[in-house]
Amino acid sequence: MWKEYLKDIIPYKPGKPIEEVKRELGLKRVIKLASNESPKGPSPKVVEAITAEAGNVNRYPDGGCFYLREAIARKLSIPEDRIVFGNGSDEIIVMAIRACVKPGDEVVVADPTFMIYHIVSMVEGATVRKVPLRNYKYDLDGMLKEINKKTKVVFIANPDNPTGSYVTSEELNSFIDKVPRDVLIFIDEAYYEFAAGGDYPQTLNLVNRTDRNIIIARTFSKAYALAGLRVGYGIARADVADVINKVREPFNINSIAQVAAVAALKDEKYMAESVGLINSEKDKFYEFFKSVGVEYVPSKTNFILINTKRDSMKIFEFLLKRGVIIREMSGWGFKGFVRVNIGLPEENEIFFTAFKEALGEIK
Ligand code: PMP
Repeated sequence: MWKEYLKDIIPYKPGKPIEEVKRELGLKRVIKLASNESPKGPSPKVVEAITAEAGNVNRYPDGGCFYLREAIARKLSIPEDRIVFGNGSDEIIVMAIRACVKPGDEVVVADPTFMIYHIVSMVEGATVRKVPLRNYKYDLDGMLKEINKKTKVVFIANPDNPTGSYVTSEELNSFIDKVPRDVLIFIDEAYYEFAAGGDYPQTLNLVNRTDRNIIIARTFSKAYALAGLRVGYGIARADVADVINKVREPFNINSIAQVAAVAALKDEKYMAESVGLINSEKDKFYEFFKSVGVEYVPSKTNFILINTKRDSMKIFEFLLKRGVIIREMSGWGFKGFVRVNIGLPEENEIFFTAFKEALGEIK
């Protein structure tokens, strides 16, 4: 009855709710540094907008996201018909694959990288070609070699999850020039706001190219602190956006999420302060890891991948008992590694103390 290729898919396993972890372990305080969320709540203006909209939820949301579309188009100086909305940028990935991949087609991804690319491609019956990272970074030449006549999509997480590494503007441009024109190039910029500047690519102009098919995906989940509301968007040439809209569910962005995202865009100062805080705290993490002699991957995001050179499951459990939740990475092929996202200054201090203790206890 079911699609045959679903049997190989292992569903995403969500972590336990914080309240449940507290109850089970008898802890008063639990700090979650495991899902790359913003440690600060949303802007107070967002909370105000959500509260004001709450009484209207008897109505269906605006399926065209009129005000949010207008706000993003204005901010990015792009035409409105180049934007397509998703229930989180996850859904942009789902829709892109759904629109072009059929059983027997191929998709090229890095290994490891953000897992959704792989899972969603398998749901549509694709063969996924995985190209190992090189020194924690995308091996773009290796990925080019895996592209063939059956390839429909190539995914670039930039910056990448779980490494936090990134592809530079020069590297990306040279890669795009070599990708065949009938392959969709999906550039996932979920952590854009943390990475922008320097040699990190400015991709908006790339979607103008008529000789390539490119989708850029961004999200309100990270720097804008709206992960629980699920708002992401894709930017593409209008004809590409039109195709994605064909597979989109009509009311995929709920009404609360729409007003919240519009309010978040009106308070860019708050977002910039949050990003500034994360970046300055990130330096403290680097200093800390250096001081305890632990290897880490320099990150363009709000999280850091660390090589504990120990049993990372034991490190994870040790921290959990002290009320600090981090991500254990052996399931991603990084044996002995953990990933931690940057929290508020006081949360980070608690992490440093507990992590140092763990290093002492677990050899
Ligand atoms: N892409 C990457 C690389 C991510 O790490 C994440 C979130 N973990 C997403 C996309 C999805 O984010 P969202 O669906 O919340 O926009």
